Amino acid sequence: MSFTYNKKNAKCMWCKRTQNPHPDYSYETIPTKIFTSKKGRRIELCFSCYENETKEISKDSDFEEKLNKKFELLKVLNL
Ligand SMILES: [Zn+2]
Repeated sequence: MSFTYNKKNAKCMWCKRTQNPHPDYSYETIPTKIFTSKKGRRIELCFSCYENETKEISKDSDFEEKLNKKFELLKVLNL
């Protein structure tokens, strides 16, 4: 799993962080990766949120489904 480091305008869509959480790299943007949800939405996540979403999941398709559900929920809550 490769994350993009120091990407311009990087922002995790779940935790909303934009800065690298590591103190040595706090001047860099947060490492993120774009995932595609089941409905084809592009979801940008940081490493810790990705780990959170996948720790109880064994199949990729479950992860894509989960991304979809969470995205829809955030949209409804207008976050
Ligand atoms: Zn995050």
